[in-house]
Amino acid sequence: MKCPHCKSKTTIRSSEELSPITRKQYRQCTNIYCCHSFVVLQSVSLTIVPSAIPDPTVKIPLS
Ligand SMILES: [Zn+2]
Repeated sequence: MKCPHCKSKTTIRSSEELSPITRKQYRQCTNIYCCHSFVVLQSVSLTIVPSAIPDPTVKIPLS
């Protein structure tokens, strides 16, 4: 994901799993004149082909 302000590349400084389908990423802009740090929530939103070994606790809508 690019920096929303200067559009430069960003790097993931750290991340944590909030649930089996959601991660929280701490990102930092690589542009030294910007240095924006921000949080990204990354999640699985839709299933295209269902798993052959589904976890019954994981609920993901079908596309
Ligand atoms: Zn930036």
